[in-house]
Formats: sequence, structure tokens, C-alpha cells
Amino acid sequence: MIDKFDGAARKIDKIICEVGFSALQAMFNSETKSPDRIAFEDQAGAAQAQMETMFRALPAAGSVISRETEWGHHPEWARLGLLRSHLRWVQGESRLCSHKPQAARPQPVAAFAWKPNFVACARCSHRATPPAGSVEHYTCDACGKVGEDMVTDSALFLGPFMYTFGCCGTCAYW
Ligand SMILES: [Zn+2]
Ligand SMILES: [Zn+2]
Repeated sequence: MIDKFDGAARKIDKIICEVGFSALQAMFNSETKSPDRIAFEDQAGAAQAQMETMFRALPAAGSVISRETEWGHHPEWARLGLLRSHLRWVQGESRLCSHKPQAARPQPVAAFAWKPNFVACARCSHRATPPAGSVEHYTCDACGKVGEDMVTDSALFLGPFMYTFGCCGTCAYW
């Protein structure tokens, strides 16, 4: 199934890998359009408006990528999964917990590989865990394998946005 945000997510991913997240965010947070930013917006093409909303939603203090590793260290499926969820959220197309967290009012939120259309506030994030014994609970979010050998869940962060997933022993990279 092709996600409508996949194209934009791939463009953003490529740019983060090339420029680095901090440089990219600094570009968006400055009021003046530097030559770098103009070049970047050209490159970003159709994804630009979505990206602009996305980066403005991330407070500077929250520009931490999980595990203090480079973005590119994380596998593509995790990076794109996070970006697609984030884009969907900033475009107002996610289902939300009852507290309705909004990208315009940054706060810690959680998204879930097994529930890609849903975003929850920090208080509600534990309720989105797949029920013990369910198929989702035993499905690898990277390769789709269903089995008993699932490794403990992990998460990738982009600022205050947490993307959680679970993997089989082969796909776990942390
Ligand atoms: Zn909530
Ligand atoms: Zn796997």
C-alpha cells in the first residue's frame, strides 16, 4: 500500500541525510531566506510546504535524534515511518487521542508503526501498545514477519515526536 506521504517523506529524508537535521532546522527557523534555504526549497519541490510546517512544529530545544546517533544510522524503514507519521500529523490527517495534540502547540507525542494513522499525547501513549497476544504484538515492523522472537520495542525520536516500533531479532539494529 502506497502512503500518500511517502514521496514527501523520502525527499525530507534525503535532505536530512545530506544536510543534517540541525542545519536544516536552523534554516527554517531563521526569518531571512539564505541562499542555502532557497536551494533547499528548490530541491524539495512539492514537499516544501509540508516540510515547512513540519520543521516549524519542532522546538529548537527538542532537536534531538534518539540515541545521539546520526539520522542516517537508523534504517530507512524507521526513518521513513517516522517522517510519514509526522507529515500526516502536521497536515491534520491523523486520528488523535482525546487530548488532540496539535503540531502548532509542540508537546511530546507518540506515533506507532503498528498504527500508522494515530498520534497520542504522552499521557495516552501507553494505551496504543498492541494487546499482548495480538498479531500486531508479534509482527516485525521492519520485515513484516510474524513470530515469537520479537525484540523489545524501541523508538526513534525527532524532537518531541516519538515513533515506536518492534522488530524481530534479525531486523533489530539497536
Ligand atoms: Zn491524550
Ligand atoms: Zn524483521
